[in-house]
Amino acid sequence: MFPINKIRKDFPILSRKVHGKPLVYLDNGATSQTPIQVIDVIVDYYSNYNANIHRGVHTLSQEATDKYEEARHKIQAHFNAKHAHEIIMTSGTTESINLVAHGFASLLKEGDEIIVSALEHHSNIVPWQMLCEKTGAILKVIPMNDAGELVLEEFNKLLSEKTKLVFVNHISNALGTINPIKEIIKKTHQVGAAVLVDGAQACPHLKPDVQALDVDFYVASAHKMCGPTGVGMLYGKEAWLKKLPPYQGGGEMIAEVTFEKTTYADLPHKFEAGTPNICGGIAFGAAIDYLNAIGLDNISKYEHELLEYATKKILEIEGLKIYGTSKNKTSVISFNLEGIHPYDVGTILDKMGIAVRTGHHCTQPIMDFYKIPGTVRASFAFYNTKEEVDVLVEGIKKAKMMLS
Ligand code: PMP
Repeated sequence: MFPINKIRKDFPILSRKVHGKPLVYLDNGATSQTPIQVIDVIVDYYSNYNANIHRGVHTLSQEATDKYEEARHKIQAHFNAKHAHEIIMTSGTTESINLVAHGFASLLKEGDEIIVSALEHHSNIVPWQMLCEKTGAILKVIPMNDAGELVLEEFNKLLSEKTKLVFVNHISNALGTINPIKEIIKKTHQVGAAVLVDGAQACPHLKPDVQALDVDFYVASAHKMCGPTGVGMLYGKEAWLKKLPPYQGGGEMIAEVTFEKTTYADLPHKFEAGTPNICGGIAFGAAIDYLNAIGLDNISKYEHELLEYATKKILEIEGLKIYGTSKNKTSVISFNLEGIHPYDVGTILDKMGIAVRTGHHCTQPIMDFYKIPGTVRASFAFYNTKEEVDVLVEGIKKAKMMLS
């Protein structure tokens, strides 16, 4: 049995009220909540060993450095990277993608092709468009079907010797679709190109093995994985990280600086200019410990039960349409009530203490595909319950009555 009652007690925020009603937090796709085990680590850092890392001889600095590097090793082990220096600490998925896009500017030439999927978050579209502007490379798009799945036959047609890079998310934040990344990576490697996988939405639900996937770059954000905001990671194969130029210049990323010439530090420091989010990095490690103590397999099994229960109940509401109907999906339900704007539904649900997201979810191309302005998105985590699903369903029914 999944220890849901025990788990819920780990999250102080879950016992608060919103508009006088118990909070039903179903916006986990935007950010997850933080367990006390991670909050304690943050308090401990600022209470006991807050110091800058890597360059101090004093005790606090050494303690902070050890904990920060320990976190890097936890991340390495979690994602099964071969080397700890293949884990670059960043401010999140967005920065990780920008770092790689910036680096590829020196590797691409006019007429090269890079491939994105129709299911991407804006943060896995815009940096590549900027890269195309800089280099004259051409952006191609893997199309999607009505169920919100990628059309792989079309992907096969896009691949050629001109392809240099493919970037696709592991799981769509707007629809919950799990993309066939293993197959995409294999096919892409056959033409000699690299693959970046945006794992922002996948990592709260499953445990990617970067070596088994043979992926070139994998990126994630701590705040979707029960960690704090403003910290994340980039995994890159050593050979690729050596090939890419530094992203930002500054302290920490250098070997030697003179006014004539600067040489860069080895990996991972080459990509980590300036004082990082030290506390955030350490807390990211604690969040990974927390998820692993429950077990990602247990989490995904429990969430799948929640998804099936919620989908069945929600579909009983007349005039409600779910977007993203792939069998291969995680615990996200994106929907609209016929003739009612998603924003209005979200506002009424909030009055009942129910937190959902409304809008385009930073995926305007998906909304354009369905010809809608946005959806209401309920995204479930392992600390949500069937009772909360029932509250949501009743809330939607009420909203429908009020707005029809
Ligand atoms: N990609 C996906 C699939 C996401 O869901 C998100 C966050 N909504 C991002 C990228 C961007 O993540 P961050 O804002 O943490 O950088």
